Amino acid sequence: MATGEAHRGPAGGRGRLYVVATPIGNLADVTLRALETLRAADAVLAEDTRTTAQLLARHGIRAKLRALHGHNEAAAAQSVLAALAAGETLALVSEAGTPGISDPGARLVRRVRAAGFDVVPIPGPSALAAALSVSGVDGPFAFVGFLPAKDAARRAEIGRWRDFPHALVFYEAPHRVRATLGDLAAILGASREVVIARELTKMFEQVHACALGEAADWIAADPNRERGEFVLVVAAPGEARGRDAAEAERVLAILAAELPVKQAAKLAAAITGAAKNALYERALAIKRAADAEGHPGEP
Ligand code: SAM
Repeated sequence: MATGEAHRGPAGGRGRLYVVATPIGNLADVTLRALETLRAADAVLAEDTRTTAQLLARHGIRAKLRALHGHNEAAAAQSVLAALAAGETLALVSEAGTPGISDPGARLVRRVRAAGFDVVPIPGPSALAAALSVSGVDGPFAFVGFLPAKDAARRAEIGRWRDFPHALVFYEAPHRVRATLGDLAAILGASREVVIARELTKMFEQVHACALGEAADWIAADPNRERGEFVLVVAAPGEARGRDAAEAERVLAILAAELPVKQAAKLAAAITGAAKNALYERALAIKRAADAEGHPGEP
């Protein structure tokens, strides 16, 4: 293998495993270092050889592909170790994004490291980082990944996170996204903010922020919204939503002092993105308080 500047120096004839991140949709989202690594590897261990073949073809790379997926990861480790012992340089890629993040790779990485070979990351796309980067969520978070498919197990797992004080990140499949959003609202609280990141980097990419209690309805409002791949970022309890709520309250108070309740709520919802019904209730309360203080406004 060529020891270009992309690599961490010569492996001294010893085999080395590169763990290479690949695009999560847009085939142009791949680093120069990833391409150089794939081009130079003696073999590419691919979760899905067809997807990887497309990526390699797009970038004019000819590589020897070997299948390595969840079902043969343990068994394949033996032949991977033999290849590394023979001095080969291998690159591990998953179907999309970063291997080992809700994808095969971790078991192989452990075996390879335990056998004394270097395991080198070639960082790049991950749906987790992409979704977080546009979520507006600040501070610590936990990556939960996929929830169990069965209803009872899924609810139990969400329940374990109920008192977690920071943001939560989930991966979800299209046929379960509505049910999961419903369960998240019921268990974590309907007012908590969720950012639904759908089809990132692809043609129908969408990023929508709303209260968990409104999320399943938002998905149901358009059949297209239930298609594709999803990351759900649930904000920390009270935190992001609290900031937004304070802003919505400030805008509403200004408008409610000048306008009828309905109009004030509608405008405040349009300006801040907060839920209109909740703002309407709040505007009524503001009016009632003003009336009680002797400043009757128009209801
Ligand atoms: N290893 C990958 C990574 O680094 O993101 C994740 C692989 S996991 C098997 C696939 C899940 O990741 C999908 O079900 C979805 O939840 C999320 N995902 C992958 N690509 C996505 C995309 N383009 N937009 C939104 N979510 C995506």
